[in-house]
Amino acid sequence: MALKALDIYKLLPKKNCKQCGDPTCLTFAMKLAGGKADVDLCPYLDDQAKSVLGATTRPPIRLVKIGVGERSFSVGEEFVLYRHDKTFYHPPGILFKVSDLQTPEEIASATIRVRDETFTRIGSDLKFNGMAIENTSGASDVFARAVAAVEEHADLPLVLMTGNTSALNAALVQVGSYQPLIYAATAENFREMCAVAKKHNCPMVIKAHGLDNLTALAKGCLAEGVKKLVMDPNPQSLGDYITTSTAIRQLAITRAVPDLGYPVFVDATHPSLQDAAIALGIVKYASVIVTPPLSPASSKAALTLRQNIYTDPQKPIQMNPGLYRVGTPGKDAPVLVTVNFSLTFFTLQGYLESSRIPCFMLIIDTEGLSVLTAVAAGKFNETLVRDSLSKFNVEGEVSHKILIIPGYAAPLSGRIEELTGWKVMVGPRDAAEIGEYLNEEWKKTGK
Ligand code: SF4
Repeated sequence: MALKALDIYKLLPKKNCKQCGDPTCLTFAMKLAGGKADVDLCPYLDDQAKSVLGATTRPPIRLVKIGVGERSFSVGEEFVLYRHDKTFYHPPGILFKVSDLQTPEEIASATIRVRDETFTRIGSDLKFNGMAIENTSGASDVFARAVAAVEEHADLPLVLMTGNTSALNAALVQVGSYQPLIYAATAENFREMCAVAKKHNCPMVIKAHGLDNLTALAKGCLAEGVKKLVMDPNPQSLGDYITTSTAIRQLAITRAVPDLGYPVFVDATHPSLQDAAIALGIVKYASVIVTPPLSPASSKAALTLRQNIYTDPQKPIQMNPGLYRVGTPGKDAPVLVTVNFSLTFFTLQGYLESSRIPCFMLIIDTEGLSVLTAVAAGKFNETLVRDSLSKFNVEGEVSHKILIIPGYAAPLSGRIEELTGWKVMVGPRDAAEIGEYLNEEWKKTGK
């Protein structure tokens, strides 16, 4: 049963020393009650208090950070089974996998792709997250060389895939301080793997088939002092993956089996269903996905799906309000007002670009609502248009005072004219018609 904040507060040392990252013990207690903090953050708690608080207060799925520096990423700390119940917080890291038997050129090429490739969608720059190096050769020196070949080209989060602790140690000599994810501890080797993980403070994957085996392995690693765990359920098929990952998420978030409360790992290498394996990983709770380098089409599909699943369904994706340029507009260029709902922005921007008429887009803050909804809710109104004209100094950019508003905002045209002193033209309702509209109607203004 979950403890209340005040019950938790009674068990805290009340030093208000801020070492947990919270300003007071009370705020830390409130976070613990909400499952948003870990008891280990308070160094003064004794073992007895920790055991009382531990499993009931820490996030049901532990947060695990992989790598260091700018490209590091954190996974876990999820609270729901269904995205629409709240949201999913930490998108899975997708890492390209290479074998230590590949040539240095092939390894470099995959690494440079992960380092440099960016796919911009709805205003966000989407990237893959890192590199996984597999010790296919079984040889320590070959593995260490392959890891060095990756490291030579980029500082990226890494997964070191070998159960051979000699090979692992050889690679960690070079990259141990970058906190790579080491893969994988099994029932057979977990003590040796835990010793390596502890020495380098690395997160570690545990791999076992079946929930009981995973739970037992997690307990074994915890007893060895390794807490930063990720779980590979070692599925035998894609169907098996869905069943197991769903069960893990369910048992973890309900705290029915706290020892399953770790992020999930999936190796999406699949001879014929690789795209399907990645898609399943993204939608069904994987936090770390390794895959052989993807084609451009599969890359876009994976990054797009991940972005879609990990946006907050309760918050529309928004653009920052402001004055945006399409092409290189001059003083006579049209000014089109629209909302900051990103889908509206990018749809309109796309049609404006294809019209080849340089113009300004004045994006007003309707809290991410679409035109129709914003007008109905009173979020798109004459005051906001007036304030945005002034805030973004539109008068300083053009030599006219003509605004084009969306067709669905037509009822506001009179009020906008009155309040702003700008002449208002009503544009089409459908963004697809904007090119034709500008060619016909805007040209009539003689600009
Ligand atoms: Fe209180 Fe512990 Fe946080 Fe210090 S570290 S403020 S004692 S909860």
